[in-house]
Amino acid sequence: MRSVLVLGGTGEARRLADALSAVPRLRTVSSLAGRVTHPALPVGEVRTGGFGGAEGLAAWLKAEGIDLVVDATHPFASGMTASAAQATARTGVPLLVLRRPGWQPVQGDRWHWAADVAEAARTLPGLGRRVFLTTGRQTIGAFARLDGLWFLARSVDPPEPPLPRALHVVLDRGPFTLDGELALMREHAVDVLVTKDSGGPMTSAKLAAARTLSLPVLLVRRPPLPEGVPVVATVEEAAAWVRES
Ligand code: NAP
Repeated sequence: MRSVLVLGGTGEARRLADALSAVPRLRTVSSLAGRVTHPALPVGEVRTGGFGGAEGLAAWLKAEGIDLVVDATHPFASGMTASAAQATARTGVPLLVLRRPGWQPVQGDRWHWAADVAEAARTLPGLGRRVFLTTGRQTIGAFARLDGLWFLARSVDPPEPPLPRALHVVLDRGPFTLDGELALMREHAVDVLVTKDSGGPMTSAKLAAARTLSLPVLLVRRPPLPEGVPVVATVEEAAAWVRES
């Protein structure tokens, strides 16, 4: 019997847990941060909450007899990814990162890049006045001082202060459709979209909607991955790595 830890909170992590449930003599434990009130749960064993940094995770890996770790967290969950790299290096447990590719512009896109959310907040006033902000509730505070702008912010759970003065919140989670995104952006007369480069099809319809409406898009670049850690882009590759390790 072998044990694998899947660091989750993404659709890919849920699909990986599903794929691994068919592998004989394999125990799969999925881990969630516990941030979302009603998370979509993977099949099988699930644990919830932080480990207490790299040290806590290393101790947990030993206590649970974990043989392999797949980091299938969101591309912007850089704290968890750094912690996984450190803990697995310390314990000698093999680590694989499953990371969906970032989005690529196509003809008609008017994309601008920011190195991080703080830079996006500095750049934004030059791009528009009515902002569709989709970077997640943990980042809304970075835009709180932009008093001249109006914000439509979408998040899974309600954001907490500090918040922009002129703010309308929509609570929703993907997948989203092009028609739905177009209707939302037209209803609120949005003139600029702000997003992280999350990648994947679940939340990409807003990019197609911005293209259709010829609106500028401000994308926050992904944080870098830890050096030397193997990375795959698909659930199938990650499942094969687990089977063959
Ligand atoms: P983060 O900043 O990298 O993580 C901060 C801390 O939260 C980690 O150090 C860890 O605490 C705990 N944590 C994060 N993911 C965990 C997991 N899967 N299992 C157990 N503990 C976890 O992460 P985040 O950006 O807040 O994201 C939190 C979760 O939401 C992740 O699972 C991620 O996949 C998911 N998510 C994030 C985004 C996003 O835009 N950031 C979007 C969609 C989903 P300890 O140090 O105590 O271990």
